[in-house]
Amino acid sequence: MRFFIDRPITQGAEIAITDAGIRHQLARVLRYTAGDTMIVLDGKGNEGEAVIQSITKDAVTVKVGVYGRNKNEPEYAVALYQSILKKDKMEFVFEKCTEIGVSRFVPMLSEHSVKQGVNCVRARKIVREAAEQSRRGIIPEISEIRSFADAVQEAKKSGAMCVLAHNEGDTEHLGDFARTHDLSGGINAFIGPEGGFSDAEVAHASQNGFHVVSLGKRTLRAETAAIVASFAVVEQ
Ligand code: SAH
Repeated sequence: MRFFIDRPITQGAEIAITDAGIRHQLARVLRYTAGDTMIVLDGKGNEGEAVIQSITKDAVTVKVGVYGRNKNEPEYAVALYQSILKKDKMEFVFEKCTEIGVSRFVPMLSEHSVKQGVNCVRARKIVREAAEQSRRGIIPEISEIRSFADAVQEAKKSGAMCVLAHNEGDTEHLGDFARTHDLSGGINAFIGPEGGFSDAEVAHASQNGFHVVSLGKRTLRAETAAIVASFAVVEQ
């Protein structure tokens, strides 16, 4: 099992893990005891083998053995700017796109958004568990909710390549775009809500230097589009 412990990891270090959730998982769910091993991660891309020294009601103490850089992070940062979807769809996007390799989620309010909020506590838990399960080296960040216009400005300023997925018009496929452009500065991918982006939003993004891209001939559900877009840029 793998656990993000949000602490520096160095060889030989003894670390007392006091996080109640992790402690419960180790002691009660997995029934680990002294001598059992796991992988601990600092959330900054380092990970190490850890052997349980002791388990008390307040802490699990582990000793770090071999450690090094996690090797599973994508080559460049992918930020998914996702218009807020209905609760279960949004949570599906957080989980699946974490597995695929997205490094940051920005929930957006756009013109056709029906749902206006996100349960951030739940979202962080989903993303953390998906990152552990998929052997990521970091926990993707979940930004505060932004309006579409603010999201466009923020994305533009970041210096990363900006794309907006739109299911109309004869535009380049995101996969082809990713293979033919330099993404070393990262990429920001905008995905619309259930009702799609409005014409004004598409025009606004274009005027701000965004590339409007296609995800294929068929119109995908927003959550499918998020997965396809993330995959197209991570696994070119
Ligand atoms: N209601 C719209 C579809 C919206 S799909 C309609 O019927 O036309 C939701 C979002 O998924 C879109 O805003 C877009 O960002 C993305 N999307 C879905 N299919 C796509 C495709 N084939 N190409 C590009 N983007 C797509």
